[in-house]
Amino acid sequence: MCPNNSDKMANLRTHYITHLGQYEQQLEALWSAAADDQSKLSDIQSMAHRLAGSGKAYGFRELSQVARECEQALEQTEHLSRQERAPAVSEPVRELLRALKQISKAEPNEVAHNYAQDAAETKSQSENDIPVLIVDDDKNFALKLSENLDSYGYIAHVEQNITQLEKAIADYDPLAVIVDMDFFGDRFAGARQVTYRQHNDGAPLPIIFISEHDSFDLRLASVRAGGNHFLHKPLDISRLTALLRAELNMAPVEPYRVMIVDDDQDLLNLYENILDDAGYSVRTADNAQNALNLLDQFQPELVLIDVKMPGCNGIELGRIIRQHEEFSSIPLLFMSAVAGMDVQLACARLANDEFINKPVEPWRLLMMVKSRVVKGRQLRSMDRVLMTPGADVAQDPLTALPKLVEVRRTLNGLLQQPFEGVLAVIKMDLREFHSINNLYGHYFGDEVLQGVAWRLGQHLDKDSMLSREGSDEFLILSQGHSSQKALDEYVRKLVQVVNQTDMNSEHGSVSLSVDVGVAIATDNNMTADELLDQTDIALFKAKAAKDAERVYFDAELKAEQKYRFTLEQSIRLGLDKQEFVAVYQPIFSVAERRIVGFEALARWQHPERGLLGPGEFIPLMEERGLISRLTEQIISRVVPQLAHWHTINPDWFMSLNLSAKDIQTPVFINNLTSLIHAHQLMPEKIVLEITESLLLADWQSASQVLASLRSLGVRVALDDFGTGYSSLSYLQRINADKLKIDRSFIEHWSQTGDARLLRATVRLGQSMNMDVIAEGVEKNEELAFLKQLGCHQYQGFLSARPMLPEDIEAGDWF
Ligand code: C2E
Ligand code: CA
Ligand code: CA
Repeated sequence: MCPNNSDKMANLRTHYITHLGQYEQQLEALWSAAADDQSKLSDIQSMAHRLAGSGKAYGFRELSQVARECEQALEQTEHLSRQERAPAVSEPVRELLRALKQISKAEPNEVAHNYAQDAAETKSQSENDIPVLIVDDDKNFALKLSENLDSYGYIAHVEQNITQLEKAIADYDPLAVIVDMDFFGDRFAGARQVTYRQHNDGAPLPIIFISEHDSFDLRLASVRAGGNHFLHKPLDISRLTALLRAELNMAPVEPYRVMIVDDDQDLLNLYENILDDAGYSVRTADNAQNALNLLDQFQPELVLIDVKMPGCNGIELGRIIRQHEEFSSIPLLFMSAVAGMDVQLACARLANDEFINKPVEPWRLLMMVKSRVVKGRQLRSMDRVLMTPGADVAQDPLTALPKLVEVRRTLNGLLQQPFEGVLAVIKMDLREFHSINNLYGHYFGDEVLQGVAWRLGQHLDKDSMLSREGSDEFLILSQGHSSQKALDEYVRKLVQVVNQTDMNSEHGSVSLSVDVGVAIATDNNMTADELLDQTDIALFKAKAAKDAERVYFDAELKAEQKYRFTLEQSIRLGLDKQEFVAVYQPIFSVAERRIVGFEALARWQHPERGLLGPGEFIPLMEERGLISRLTEQIISRVVPQLAHWHTINPDWFMSLNLSAKDIQTPVFINNLTSLIHAHQLMPEKIVLEITESLLLADWQSASQVLASLRSLGVRVALDDFGTGYSSLSYLQRINADKLKIDRSFIEHWSQTGDARLLRATVRLGQSMNMDVIAEGVEKNEELAFLKQLGCHQYQGFLSARPMLPEDIEAGDWF
């Protein structure tokens, strides 16, 4: 039977609530026994652990919270003596008892739940290849059915309007059609439309009628309309698929086989139910031994394993499975409520995959399971047929969304024929995703991406295609909007969907926001790549703008694109001709106003426009991947220059600026090292200025680069300090030698007299033993105040502007 999901869920919940009653009695017994028997406390601890997990999975948040607190209290008091421990945990245990009582007393349906609905809304993205069409005005039923068929390996399309039958057949090219009889109370509408189609000699297609009612008249109408079968609702899905297979002359398509191993029976029931509803064939085991027995007999295509189980834990079970030759390649997926880094790593090694944080929401469970089993079967069938052409795995394993290749293919297809309405590509980029990854870890980062994918998927128009491109970028191919205004409403809705996605991590909740670029196809002469490029340009613009979240590619952007293109050409030419030079701004000691070093700042000696500042070329260079060539040229000029000035004063240092890209691909290090050696410079006289945001963008590679710079012996300065995140823990980890206080701080003090920020920042640098350098000092009072604060060095127009070396040497600076 096409299962009535909410009934089943309600039953499961009622069952769980009864179970909670038993937990309550056990807990009471354990707690009173614990007065004499210390070991009972660890029984309570594992019970609390369980309740924390299953409680949350069944939607009892408070219970889960209280159980978690109780578990933690027991964990933290393990080292205490018996007399001390019982009173210390009595409060949280009583709280847990109270929470259990409260639920088991309440009426089952008093407690709101939404899982049934969640699971019912599940929409699958399938890559399988038998298109079928479902025509039914009952949207929920049709979506549910299509989801079920998807998991049997079909691509089920849904059309709600029976008069659109012809068009839907033309659009989707199905191999079979499932048609409801009844449309809006007209019991024969389905049969009539099909008859009409057969008379207009549409190509013969297997038609399966479905109906809520059953009568001789209806069956006769179905036969006369040329229907091949008549099924009565609620549907028996296995009967339907058997008929489809027979009609399509196919070998049976098996549902995917998934095995779940968890010692908590309540969670097993829940997960089994969710997967079963989505059409999977599921077996469960509540311990490792049972799991191993089942493995051979059931031959699962995926095994979901709970890490924390008494006896043999999940990781051990994983190792045993891997030892078996024949099971060594079964995909494993681990889940756990609390897992340290070491456990996560062990799982990652065994599963070669990510890790599920428990409790997992139904939709995420489905998404993760689906993407893995589908991919597994595709890979296996590719093995068998020796790489059938076109059998590429065009699905993103994390979100189960199609990849960019699919969008490109579809878009090219659409552009080849005249299209109606607005055809557009929408690209969304999550703001600050790198920071989320860095601050909360990439497991959480992955969950964020899955959450966004899911939420967007729920709000797509039916003619839209969603895909994930690269790490935090989502592409939506949209068609059929009547006007640009209608499209914009749609885009706005999608933005809102992401903005309203709150993701909860153990450190609190993270709210999301996006930048969006949109490009609209203007004619059939465009290629998919052109449209995708324009989307990128619009998105780039949106990211750069402080206030805009949605930017449409338009004539202005097109002109800008042209300008940028020409600029890029001349920058490349300029790089070839070594037109990029450095100017030097002296840096002074605050105490004596004597030169202690220089900051090298890039300039472009443009053949026609004269000396240009970095604002004119650095952003584009960063975007077009040219910045490492600039860094290269600057280093090649600056190091010999310092060596030359060292003949005047060997104490001077030279500071130069690095970009994010330099840190990501640190090609400059080799060049720098050999120049330092060639000029016999002391490496500590070279200072590299980097910004916090640049480090945060990719902490992993940044810390490696920092380590190799340190071993080379050069110094590191934190530039523009105070304008970024300034997280203290990062500051500590970066362990820079110098701190450059951004000009805005001095300006703020100058303009308002408010010294708090400036003072705090100087102190911070001092307390971490850094040289503190103030930037942009323009007035004598500013310098006097910096002196008072104990700031060590400064640079600014007050004493010297950035100058060409010959100008510096011509003056009386030294
Ligand atoms: P920055 O590193 O913060 O450099 C300081 C900027 O402040 C310089 O602007 C300098 O001319 C300006 N400045 C110095 N003293 C004063 C003052 O008293 N008042 C005011 N209003 N401004 C002052 P510039 O040379 O235009 O450089 C702008 C930015 O371009 C730099 O900011 C740096 O982020 C970047 N940059 C410059 N050269 C390079 C380079 O070789 N590589 C990379 N990656 N970035 C560079
Ligand atoms: Ca700088
Ligand atoms: Ca700066």
